Amino acid sequence: MAELHNRRWILHRRPEGLVTLADIELREEPLGTLKPGEVLIRNHYLSIDPAIRDWMSDRPSYLPSIPLGEVVRSTSLGEVIESHHPAFKAGDLAVGVNGWEDYSIASGDQLMPVQPLAGEAEQYFLSIYGAVGLTAYFGLLEKGRPQPGETVLVSAAAGAVGSLVGQIARLKGCRAVGIAGSEEKCRWIVDELGFDAAINYRTSANLQDAIRESCPDGVDVYFDNVGGEVLDAALMTLNKNARIVFCGAISGYNSQQPVPGPYNFWQILARTVTLEGFLVSDYFARFPEAIAQVRQWLAEGKIVFREQVVDGLEHCLDTFNLLFEGANNGKLIVRINSLPQASGGSGLRRDQLNHATAASALAATQEETR
Ligand code: NDP
Repeated sequence: MAELHNRRWILHRRPEGLVTLADIELREEPLGTLKPGEVLIRNHYLSIDPAIRDWMSDRPSYLPSIPLGEVVRSTSLGEVIESHHPAFKAGDLAVGVNGWEDYSIASGDQLMPVQPLAGEAEQYFLSIYGAVGLTAYFGLLEKGRPQPGETVLVSAAAGAVGSLVGQIARLKGCRAVGIAGSEEKCRWIVDELGFDAAINYRTSANLQDAIRESCPDGVDVYFDNVGGEVLDAALMTLNKNARIVFCGAISGYNSQQPVPGPYNFWQILARTVTLEGFLVSDYFARFPEAIAQVRQWLAEGKIVFREQVVDGLEHCLDTFNLLFEGANNGKLIVRINSLPQASGGSGLRRDQLNHATAASALAATQEETR
């Protein structure tokens, strides 16, 4: 095989605040060779997730920090080019925790084979059938344990995870109320997704009052994606024995100061609330069951989801930062639509990185699926 060159986003400094080109850099490197048990994948799609910001820091977390000098870690979906693992052959599609790069070399034991059905886009396995859809499914059903007639409140409700949480809550017979950051997002979740009510946290004069108004019977399940002031407001509206699904805390991911705990933490005791941390990876063995259910809901037209697919590996950074501005509309995915030449990789000039603006990324494909 001709020598392949690989463009990779390398972490070379721990970011403070929003990630910039001073923290990560797109480099072109020769591709290594495969060891026994490894698989070479040509990535088609890269998942752009808030959690990547956590992995770039050196805070203790559920995965080790990305080492300096290594590729930015992300889930990717691609095609097997060469396999030294008995479970994979050239042409197979696989998903794994790889990186923002054209090609990945991964242990076959760490990859999940995927087979889209006719009419299904490959990248669904990074969105509705991937961590996003399965986080909504397991997080709500296993940790939130919603009962018919209860009220489920979710933050980042127009986002990839949140938009599905509200729809699954409705399917389970609950009142679904979403908190989101713009009027357009609030209209979308009510008019298109069937949420019962939506609250714009950016324009509400008093978020606690707004939640009480939209949740007249109180909140039984709070699915938290953001933490911070929104969590504090939600804590004051919970019913006795409510459940909080601690899924994420995006409001603090770029914080340069220690993030304070919730001021209203005492309400957990006062209202005998159960607060549980949730990690979708803990449910890996049950992914097939969840994919089958979500696939059925999609086929029956019971759920809708949005993907925002941005073309070009060089746009990973700009696309990533959309998450923290609330400028994404649905699950963010980068599609790799061109590859470097097979030889003579002289490295990219800095001005070739095309530091795209959020506006150009937003001009990218946006797809809504029902
Ligand atoms: P989203 O599509 O929801 O995008 C992130 C959204 O967060 C933005 O669009 C924005 O929406 C909102 N946001 C950004 N900054 C703030 C802020 N300072 N305060 C309040 N809201 C903010 O992303 P995902 O669906 O991929 O992820 C949602 C959450 O789920 C994240 O916290 C993520 O870490 C977590 N997650 C957890 C998993 C787990 O296993 N525990 C797995 C997958 C995701 P708006 O315009 O409404 O402000």
